[in-house]
This record gives sequence, structure tokens and C-alpha cells, in this order.
Amino acid sequence: MGKGIINKYSEYLPINNKVSNLSIGEGDTPLVKSRSIGRTLGIDSLYFKLEGCNPTGSFKDRGMVIAVAKSLETGNPRLLCASTGNTSASAAAYGAAAGLETIVLVPKGNIAIGKMSQAIAYGARIISINGNFDDSLNIAIKLGEDQSRFTLVNSVNPYRIEGQKTASFELIDELGDAPNYLYIPVGNAGNITAYWKGFKEYFNLGKSTFTPKMMGIQAAGAAPIVQGSPVSNPETIASAIRIGNPASWSTALSARDESGGEIDAVSDDEILNAYKRMAREEGIFCEPASAASVAGLIKHVHKGFNISSKTVVCIITGNGLKDPPIANSLAESPPEEAAPDLIKVMKLIDKRG
Ligand SMILES: *Cc1c(COP(=O)(O)O)cnc(C)c1O
Repeated sequence: MGKGIINKYSEYLPINNKVSNLSIGEGDTPLVKSRSIGRTLGIDSLYFKLEGCNPTGSFKDRGMVIAVAKSLETGNPRLLCASTGNTSASAAAYGAAAGLETIVLVPKGNIAIGKMSQAIAYGARIISINGNFDDSLNIAIKLGEDQSRFTLVNSVNPYRIEGQKTASFELIDELGDAPNYLYIPVGNAGNITAYWKGFKEYFNLGKSTFTPKMMGIQAAGAAPIVQGSPVSNPETIASAIRIGNPASWSTALSARDESGGEIDAVSDDEILNAYKRMAREEGIFCEPASAASVAGLIKHVHKGFNISSKTVVCIITGNGLKDPPIANSLAESPPEEAAPDLIKVMKLIDKRG
């Protein structure tokens, strides 16, 4: 446990031995069986993979450890990324661990407060771009062309995909075979690309007897793949998937088509409903973007999908602590107040039943 993905899966990763000990504990995330949502949907084997349990609270750490390890191998100086938040948190953490400078470009005013706090704490240089994520990524990609100055660690960096595919390995190692359906939020579409790559590789090695249907879920206000054209002003409360022109668009389409899956969109109301249910019925506090996978599953079952006898996994991509204001918005009223007096507190509790 906690050995990190390079140690655990080195034979499937493009890594040289000399940096193989880079890890801050990524991978080996819990696969938790649903206690409530699965029952209400009539699905016996519904699981949540808790990627928010990675060191910086999102799956981004799986790819980042490989991207940074490769940067160390080649001796590149600094890390650079554009980010809706989690990539910058992860880059900053692994940059710190590896002793590399990290520069992050974030869309001004559009990054969840917990993620910004992480980038600050890990000591990244933060440049706030007066534009959206897609603008920030375009600049990062241009700067990253000068590989003698920067290692671009966005998911267009192929090593990110290599690291992220290890989550598929873990699923098959733990379930004994592939799940039938994989529900996953889609933003820049690197993660759905990575999972599909991992599933195909393990299948080709004979570690699973089939591959899952890849069910990618976008937010309705940021659903370019569903609509078939880029969205110039993507809008959703799920900031991690507020992306109008996904970098891995074509590989997401391949994942969908080769697997016989679907890419669909859910509204912010559906996302918030799933977010709340995950916390209140499952005890799992996730990011709004992560709840999109669950919202997509709920939508599909309500639409009449018959998958009750199937093994279904929802990828819970990030931790709820990243975005406290969204959680606070669920409060129906401010906390009740009482004097520091036992009897008064007891009376207050009884009054509300
Ligand atoms: C990055 C991220 C996503 C989207 O993943 P892509 O690879 O961009 O599709 C979803 N949820 C969370 C929490 C993320 O950090």
C-alpha cells in the first residue's frame, strides 16, 4: 500500500529505473460499493472509485508522477501547465517533491478556492489569465513548444495518459475482471482516453475477458463533444469540467466508439443532486465534477437503460474539500446557535426532534 504507481506498475509504464522512487503516495485508491444509490437504481454491483483519495485530492496525481519523473529523466528545468485547478495542485505538489519550479496558468476567478490554496501552499508560481481555461491552455501549449525551457504537464503530455491508465489496472486487479460500464466525467477528455488505453492494454495481456463500455459525462453548459462543436463560453458549477474545446477530443470519440459506449451531458441541477446524494446517502464528499459521473448513471437508468445485472463503476475524480462554497450552498439555514449551557443545548436538540 502507498508505494506509488511507478513501483506497482513499472512494467507497464515508460519509466527508467533511476527515478522510479518518485512518489508521494498516489494510486491504490479505494473501490467502495454503493450502499444506497445502487439500491435505488436497482443495480447490485455499483462501485465508486475514490480518486479523491490521491495525495492532492484528485486523479491528476497518477499522470503527474509520470510526467514529472520523465521531466527528471530528461533534465528539463521547470514544469508548466494550464489548469482549472487540480492539474495545478498536482503539478505544484510533484514539482515540490522533485525540487522543480512549477508555473501554473489559471483562468482568473474560475478556480475553486481549495485548489488555489494548494498551488499556493506547494509554492507554485501562479499566473492568473484574464480568460477561460481554453485560452490558458493555448498559451501553455505555445510556451511548452520550447522544451528546453518548460515541461508542459497538461494532459497533452503523453506521460500523463500513461500514468492515469493505471486506474484501469487497479479496477481489473480488484474486481477480477473489467466492469461492464465505466461512468466518468469528461472535461479535457484526457482521463477517458487514459482509462480506455488501460482497459485495452490489460485486455490484450489477458488480464480481463472483455472491455467496459465507456460512458463519458459532460456538463450541459460545457458539452462540446455531445454537441459536436467547441463551446466558446463554457458554463457549469463543475469547474473541473468547464472546458469548451477538449484537447483529447478525438481519442475520447475513439474510446466511446471502440467500447460501444456513449458520451452524454447532465445539467447542473442533476450534478448537484448527485453531489448531495453522494454525500448524504453514501458518505462520500466529492467534487461537483466528480458527481457528473453519478448524475449520468442516474439519468440513464431513469431513461430506461437496463443495466441492473451489470457491474458498474463511477469514477469519483476529486475530493469535495476542493470546493467548499458549493458545499456551503447546500445549507438550508445557518447553523443553529445556543448558549454554552447543557440544558439549553438539550432543549434545542429536542425542539427540532
Ligand atoms: C481534471 C478533472 C476532470 C476532467 O478530466 P479530463 O481528463 O479533463 O476529462 C474531472 N474531475 C476532476 C475532479 C478533475 O480534476
